Amino acid sequence: MTGHMHVEDDRTGMEVGTLKRALADNLYCIQGKDEYFATAYDYYMALAYTVRDRLTHRRIKTAQTYFERDAKMVYYLSAEFLIGRLLINNLINLGMYDQMRQALKESGLNLDDLLEREEEPGLGNGGLGRLAACFLDSMATLEIPAMGYGIRYEFGIFRQLIANGWQHECPDNWLRFGNPWEIARPDYIVEVKFGGHTEAFTDDEGNYRVHWMARNTVYGTPYDTPVPGYRNNTVNTLRLWSARAGEDFNFQVFDAGDYTQAVAEKTFSENISKVLYPNDNTPQGKELRLKQEYFFVSCSLQDIIRLYLRKHDNFDAFPDKVAIQLNDTHPAIGVAELMRLLIDEHGVEWNYAWDITRRTFAYTNHTLLAEALEKWSVNLFRKLLPRHLEIIYEINYKFLDEVRSKYPDEPERLACMSLIQEGHEQMVRMAHLACVGSHTVNGVAALHTELVKQELMHDFYEMFPEKFQNKTNGITPRRWLLMSNPALSSLITEKIGDSWITNLDDLRRLEEFVHHADFQQRWRDIKQFNKQRLADHILRNNGIEVSPHSLFDVQIKRIHEYKRQLLNVLHVITLYHRMKANPGMDMLPRTVIFGGKAAPGYFMAKMVVKLINSVADMVNHDPDVGDRLKVIFLANYGVALGEISYPAADLSEQISTAGKEASGTGNMKFALNGALTIGTLDGANVEIREEVGAENFFLFGLTAPEVLEMKAKGYNPQHFYQGDEELRQVVDSIRSGYFSPKEPDLFRAIVDALMHGDEYMLMADYRAYVDCQDRVSQAYRNQDEWTRMSILNVARMGKFSSDRTIREYCNDIWHVQPMSVTLGEYRSETAGLRRI
Ligand SMILES: *Cc1c(COP(=O)(O)O)cnc(C)c1O
Repeated sequence: MTGHMHVEDDRTGMEVGTLKRALADNLYCIQGKDEYFATAYDYYMALAYTVRDRLTHRRIKTAQTYFERDAKMVYYLSAEFLIGRLLINNLINLGMYDQMRQALKESGLNLDDLLEREEEPGLGNGGLGRLAACFLDSMATLEIPAMGYGIRYEFGIFRQLIANGWQHECPDNWLRFGNPWEIARPDYIVEVKFGGHTEAFTDDEGNYRVHWMARNTVYGTPYDTPVPGYRNNTVNTLRLWSARAGEDFNFQVFDAGDYTQAVAEKTFSENISKVLYPNDNTPQGKELRLKQEYFFVSCSLQDIIRLYLRKHDNFDAFPDKVAIQLNDTHPAIGVAELMRLLIDEHGVEWNYAWDITRRTFAYTNHTLLAEALEKWSVNLFRKLLPRHLEIIYEINYKFLDEVRSKYPDEPERLACMSLIQEGHEQMVRMAHLACVGSHTVNGVAALHTELVKQELMHDFYEMFPEKFQNKTNGITPRRWLLMSNPALSSLITEKIGDSWITNLDDLRRLEEFVHHADFQQRWRDIKQFNKQRLADHILRNNGIEVSPHSLFDVQIKRIHEYKRQLLNVLHVITLYHRMKANPGMDMLPRTVIFGGKAAPGYFMAKMVVKLINSVADMVNHDPDVGDRLKVIFLANYGVALGEISYPAADLSEQISTAGKEASGTGNMKFALNGALTIGTLDGANVEIREEVGAENFFLFGLTAPEVLEMKAKGYNPQHFYQGDEELRQVVDSIRSGYFSPKEPDLFRAIVDALMHGDEYMLMADYRAYVDCQDRVSQAYRNQDEWTRMSILNVARMGKFSSDRTIREYCNDIWHVQPMSVTLGEYRSETAGLRRI
């Protein structure tokens, strides 16, 4: 059929001729430009709209299919979606990359230049937001009926500048030039209330009811971004909410004549979706943050109920048609909000509403750091969400009754498990709310789940052991290998075919080639090529020339004390001192690359950034060092920078204090691109090592139980300082101002933290780490052996596809089935207009 069709009829076709015509049409009709006036930006927009048209066609078909067949839907609620640039991902997933490159070429344009025009949507901080993005890709690829719900932040994660070695933050005004991927849906606007008080009343049937007399109303407008699966017809939706003041905002004030006050309040409402809080693994206890969380959760739940009621007239089937996943506790207020909507707005009776709620929600825990657990003051709750506080108290009252009857002689359990933490200020414990209101609680790596069960939520595990599951995180092989490492992808596909793209376990077939000398050589050449690509970036951005023949030792992730970038710095300084003491020594050339943002208010993290840059300044310009050591800090680490860094790494630094990193996913991206890992037994490192084999992994350091034991026995970091001459020299040189001669005391706080307390046990792990790094250097000298280990790492990474993770969520938590989408042709006479 398609073959006979005229180009004019085939509105969303993918042939080169059709694409050229569509590009020209979009340039003219949407950008309003011709070839004399079009800028690179116009061409990028025309290109993006041409791709979006093809996505829209499939998205509408997908939504129709789910609706007609009343599919059980997964709703993934997350305050963050770190999706990365969309253009190249959409071209590849739609299977139109080659045709579009050709169509552009025939139109005198270069695809690579246009790809660089795209602003990265930075709607997340790090791993948690990136996980949500990988899950969206996998759900669409696996044809799972699913939707992501979050916040359309006007300003995403700040842009990081480094000036004089210090981090500076710039606002990320990513929507400045418009966003061609999203479609606003003002017709699905919803109302969200804040503040005021509640009033109880008895309805006509004599039931106890509550009316929430709110003080403010804010409106949420949804913006939809298409999420295509890999070469199937599925295009799911990421629906992000933007806050708006209502049309009739603050009527009374208006009437009273205070126009400016009314306009000021309008801005106030619109602040809700203004900016992403730039904290990773530490909650910001700000009122605006609670408003953000409630805002997007209420919008999403109202939207979910609206969609459900299109096919149903009561809530009996709700948990059979709706699975809601809470990505951490940020959306945990959803438990109370669903109860409120069911009871207050839809007249459902408490016990029935509670049963529906518990069968609908599941909760993913993401952290073992006690300070990272979200708690909100009861007073703030009462002020902002008075009705929810009542509901939480009622849930708690009934829950504590259950605890009491299960453990009649253990009153101490009540205080530990209560949703309310007592103290000089009462707090609502969001993890407890999420756990009690969900049918399943999961950790994100095997070790993490065990620690959740045995330590963090032990009482809950004892009471509801069947609730707890492990779902080891994964990454999408589309973005993190196919897209970001085209050279390695081609080699792999040449050898084993392309089934690995959707069935990552097939990479095992590479093991057959591990001893082939020509295959090894090509493997090495590709790593060289990717290293050169990163070296070019470094020269452009840092002005430092690095050798692609040196070992690329890379640690890119958020700067956090538990991730121990400082331990890596201690190793760098160790190498430096060795060379200064023995200038002629034979040392394996290394380029140590750091990247990552520090939360703007995190003093220690910002000091670590400064220390890295100070050490880099000294090392990179010391003639005694020459080419043997370079230290680089890559500014503004995000998805785009990750895409060129992971494929260029020889060595992946995964050196968190054991028991602190929940999973990590950066560790997976590195290994999938052929880097070997130096790491502790923490998070998913444990499982990566199991998969790739202990002989292909550089393990060091204390285990999680050893960390606890050492702390219990009274850990003294100075004992390690005294007993290790190299360590002593390293610490002394930082303390003496060697790296900050103009300000000798600059790094005092860092040295104090190491010498007094050393919460993250850097001093205890230093010797094991440095010795392990020496083994890494030795191993790298044998390039054949290194290459074999690299190939085996890639070949054995199948488990860490987010497709595997999502299949497990589908089978064990959500109980949803794939549903394929059949695509008809888009023709205007069969499209929506006919119905009007
Ligand atoms: C993968 C990823 C992370 C998570 O990295 P970890 O090493 O697991 O902490 C953070 N930020 C970005 C941009 C990522 O792509």
